[in-house]
Amino acid sequence: MSVELFISVLTPTLALILAGTFAMLWWFRRSNRHIAMLAICYACVAAGFALQATSLGLDSTLVRFCSNLMLLVAVFLLCTALLTRAGMPVPRGLLLACAVVAMLVLGWFMWAQPSFVARVVAVTWGIGAMLAIAAIRLSQSPQRSRIDVLMLVVLGMGVAYFLARPFIVVFFEAGGLATPDITSSYWLLTNLATIAYSLLVALTLLTAVALDVIEELQAESQTDPLSRLLNRRGFDLRGARLLSECAAQKRPVVLVLADLDHFKRVNDRYGHEAGDQVIVSFARRLQSMAPAEALVGRLGGEEFAVLLPLTNLQAGMLYAEAVRSAGPADWAARFKVTASFGVVERQPGEGLEQMVGRADAALYQAKRDGRDRVRSGGEIRTRLRRFAG
Ligand code: GH3
Ligand code: MG
Ligand code: MG
Repeated sequence: MSVELFISVLTPTLALILAGTFAMLWWFRRSNRHIAMLAICYACVAAGFALQATSLGLDSTLVRFCSNLMLLVAVFLLCTALLTRAGMPVPRGLLLACAVVAMLVLGWFMWAQPSFVARVVAVTWGIGAMLAIAAIRLSQSPQRSRIDVLMLVVLGMGVAYFLARPFIVVFFEAGGLATPDITSSYWLLTNLATIAYSLLVALTLLTAVALDVIEELQAESQTDPLSRLLNRRGFDLRGARLLSECAAQKRPVVLVLADLDHFKRVNDRYGHEAGDQVIVSFARRLQSMAPAEALVGRLGGEEFAVLLPLTNLQAGMLYAEAVRSAGPADWAARFKVTASFGVVERQPGEGLEQMVGRADAALYQAKRDGRDRVRSGGEIRTRLRRFAG
């Protein structure tokens, strides 16, 4: 088999394998539409290159036109998939306009005024413009992870490559190669470069999909399935991080522990399901009344914890008191459930475990004092106890 034939088979085969890989990934994560788009994108790349390889042998302009159309559709899908994954709005009209203009110019220089260089400019600059639009939009994403930065670099390389490609043609034309065929150096070079770039894009995309899955699993392993708050593991992990951030910035942080009162009775009287509903509505109340930067977790059973950064003991007590007196929307009326709270402010050198220990002691004090009240573990405890209890 000649090198040329090998390459003309290799490009569509590789693209087809990648299409299959993305299709399989999508099968397992059907909620992620962008993975399905990537599967179709690589299927178009495979079809485009398969057509191009045959057209170079048969010299059919219509086949070439269709092959380029496939490649433009593939790039449109790639850009759409990248922006959908990042949760950014897709400028479909603008991308489509680039593809349509490229095809119109391509058609003109194919049939009306045949020119190989002009045809290459039409397609490669069309692709370059679409990649540039996607890169600009992606760079505006408010939450940019490391993989997004890598994706931007890969897109930038694509823009540079496709914009520079017509100059490669001009270079080869100067050498007397006006019409490329399957044995030409231009054909070999551009095909190899396209294989390399397609693989680079696919590897970056596969890494992004893998990282997304790992992130989702990690978040799920740190989430309580009933209340959707952080579970103990998530609260410990993220809480420790938050405490060290607050310590480094010398900012106050408060821990509130809450425990539902006589919760066993709710289960006994109204059933376990009703108990679950109370847990969910209390969790919602804790979360909705906390500032956005707070960490809210369900440590287990009917025990909850809230870490409030940039908050001193007094403000933490006010938060706990507000939740105590409000209660979950449906609990007070239907089940008459109350909760007790223990509040502590972080002291110098204190870790999460010590804070939980002190807050637990304050919570125990609230239970002993008759439940349905807020107690603090700190110097201003006596003064605020009067206000809270
Ligand atoms: P206290 O005021 O002293 O806190 O009284 P309590 O009845 O709340 O005491 P305790 O903490 O010992 O009881 C917790 C009960 O919470 C025990 C268990 O039946 C119930 N519980 C724990 N997890 C769940 C859950 O996920 N759903 C429901 N419905 N009940 C739960
Ligand atoms: Mg309890
Ligand atoms: Mg308890």
